[in-house]
Amino acid sequence: MTDPWALAAQYLKQQRLLGGDQVILADRSVTPGYRPGSENPTHESENTPALTPGGSPGKPQPGANQASNLPRPGISFDPPSADLFVTSPIQRANSLADVATLIAGCRDCKLCDSRTNTVPGEGPATANLVVVGEGPGRTEDETGRPFVGRAGELLTKILEAINLPRDQVFICNVVKCRPPENRLPQYDEIAACMPFLYRQIELVKPKVILAMGGTAAQSLLNTKQSLGALRNQIHRFRGIPLIVTYHPAALLRNPNWKRPTWDDVRIAARLLAA
Ligand code: URA
Repeated sequence: MTDPWALAAQYLKQQRLLGGDQVILADRSVTPGYRPGSENPTHESENTPALTPGGSPGKPQPGANQASNLPRPGISFDPPSADLFVTSPIQRANSLADVATLIAGCRDCKLCDSRTNTVPGEGPATANLVVVGEGPGRTEDETGRPFVGRAGELLTKILEAINLPRDQVFICNVVKCRPPENRLPQYDEIAACMPFLYRQIELVKPKVILAMGGTAAQSLLNTKQSLGALRNQIHRFRGIPLIVTYHPAALLRNPNWKRPTWDDVRIAARLLAA
């Protein structure tokens, strides 16, 4: 879509879907190819270059892939995957349901002591997009389903804004049991749970992974870099493009992050459409 008015109309519709209570218009005249909402907020660190998809006029932005106007490549993490001779039951699980059964019986870290239900994740094995969050909260622990609380409602709207019904996406978390009082999952808990996530991704074979929040991004890319530093790049997990964005719960606390999140999600949508 190149018509600036159609783009503006689409932007306003998406803002409404995302629950934005204000419309942020860029301080510049409408220029063909300009996509509203592509500026970075002032709080972003300098190593998160502005994205100019659609080709804003002016100087090329540092970090942008000039050929496609997609962000530059980032980290590539390639943990070993299952092979024929592997003995681990997780690696031998042949379906998402089998992985969920193993998760239900898992006692590999202390989170199992306080959980009500395990939350393996949900969505079709044929999903093109895998969304990864941090870990279950209270509602997720009670229901056994990922992202069903307030943050989940926002995630559903975010997905709708790129025309992806939630039930077409595989949605899961780094840790599959709720950390007490919603604290951050600890290193040993993440390490114990990662094999499940690796296997889920291996079974789904998505086109794109969307890592929401620092825990998901750092765990999947095996890095300690901050979320701000990891945004606006196309990383790879076992070769699959991985986009990093804010966690929906963080957006509920800070609505100013909705716009950069929208930028990130559009990158994921473009990769899905490619
Ligand atoms: N936050 C997460 O990271 N995951 C959920 O499932 C719910 C809230």
